[in-house]
Amino acid sequence: MTTHPKMTINGQDVDTANHLTVTNPANGDVLGTAPDAGMAELDAAIAAARAAFPKWRATPYAERQAVVAKAGEVISANMEELSRSLTLEQGKPAEQAQGEIGGAAAWCAATARLELPVFVLEDEPGHRIETHHVPIGVVGSISPWNFPVMLSVWKIAHAILAGNTMVLKPSPFTPLTVLRLGELLRGVIPDGVLNIITGGDALGPMMTSHPGFDKISFTGSSATGRRVMESAAPTLKRVTLELGGNDAAIVMPDVNVPEAAEKVFWAAFANSGQVCIASKRAYVHDSIYDQFKTAITEIAKNVPMGDGSKQGTALGPINNKPQYERVKGLIADCEANGYAMEQGYQPEESNGYFIPVTIVDNPPENSRIVVEEQFGPVLPLLKWNDEADVIARANDSQYGLGGTIWTNDYEAALRIAPQLETGSVWINEAMAVHPHAAFGGHKQSGLGAENGVDGLLEYTNTQTITVRRPVAA
Ligand code: NAD
Repeated sequence: MTTHPKMTINGQDVDTANHLTVTNPANGDVLGTAPDAGMAELDAAIAAARAAFPKWRATPYAERQAVVAKAGEVISANMEELSRSLTLEQGKPAEQAQGEIGGAAAWCAATARLELPVFVLEDEPGHRIETHHVPIGVVGSISPWNFPVMLSVWKIAHAILAGNTMVLKPSPFTPLTVLRLGELLRGVIPDGVLNIITGGDALGPMMTSHPGFDKISFTGSSATGRRVMESAAPTLKRVTLELGGNDAAIVMPDVNVPEAAEKVFWAAFANSGQVCIASKRAYVHDSIYDQFKTAITEIAKNVPMGDGSKQGTALGPINNKPQYERVKGLIADCEANGYAMEQGYQPEESNGYFIPVTIVDNPPENSRIVVEEQFGPVLPLLKWNDEADVIARANDSQYGLGGTIWTNDYEAALRIAPQLETGSVWINEAMAVHPHAAFGGHKQSGLGAENGVDGLLEYTNTQTITVRRPVAA
């Protein structure tokens, strides 16, 4: 059975003459269609958001908090349908799809508890200075295909809680679940406050250059992020950019090797490596390198990869053809250069975009697989033996999203962590993002932050109000 969800503009179904076809990356089956919006639908969505803005910005904060919390309840109540749809179009195994939908629901609940701060900077009898944070206006949000629901919800919850209205565009590779979410949230989020549109490659640039948006919140690759910033410049839109990463995992000599190998395996290969904050280079101390390589390769051989809707599948396919070709190209480059590699579990399916987990044995520091973001199930292992040197190598990247340190030597970990040029550093855990903690990239991994009060403030302008009044004698 195929599905044909509609766009949500001003709380209503909107369809288009042309449609995008959406396929299942595990087998190529057609799942359904999504509207292919053009300028007319974009204009209509922006007009709806603009019209809804005055009333929504004047809605008391506590009421906006209640709406965000209620949105979380709706997501949670529809977990089964949404997670099934997510597995089909994204490829991730059922349990992980449930994790994403559950996470999105939990995010709404936690975000709804955030308070928008008012800073009182001076409070003298004759003079008072306060800085408030007021909504920006109409936000255009663009999300990627790896966590289509979670990353869209991060934007929705913060943008509307801060009093903005918005138009959200999911990736053309994964539009179905987010369109369905838009249908489910009608009547919960007031008409026009959240509009969801879908379209092909032309729609993103139309959004970022459109004068009707006051801000663009974008999650995707650094290459696209640069284009977004350039296109937003003529109208000086505010931008938040959550971009690519090339996170280093630093494995110290004192670890319990089997345990560390298991943890680094999941840090690198969860969602088949299609995570912005996946470990994308593992620097393993040379005293344990061989033991670690054997252990992680053994895990790779035993973790089942296949169709995410089949029970027991732990790793799914690559989500789409361009990304599949890109990752295969990186493996071909390793082969052409004679780097030693080991492959893990071979999926049975033959029609999907499957690439078995691939471990690359100590390739050169300047190889493509070390320098570029692979965003797939391929991990280079690299040897180190000098702390200053491994820190320098971890930092020698245009990216600065996250990094991990694996050790029982907390003094060493806390010495290394602040030296990493990244927005997040995780010690003995990975991908641990929280709704109340700021998340963002340094260098070319992004601009601004999402989540927590920092994330909320990204959707506001500051407004300083000063009062001078006579002092009673
Ligand atoms: P992408 O940049 O190709 O696409 C992201 C979104 O941008 C999609 O909705 C796409 O349709 C749209 N888009 C494409 N070209 C555009 C343009 N010129 N102007 C405006 N919008 C445009 O990224 P992707 O392949 O969907 O996602 C993978 C990338 O996203 C990886 O690099 C990953 O690291 C990154 N990512 C970052 C985070 C983070 O929070 N930092 C989270 C997830 C993914």
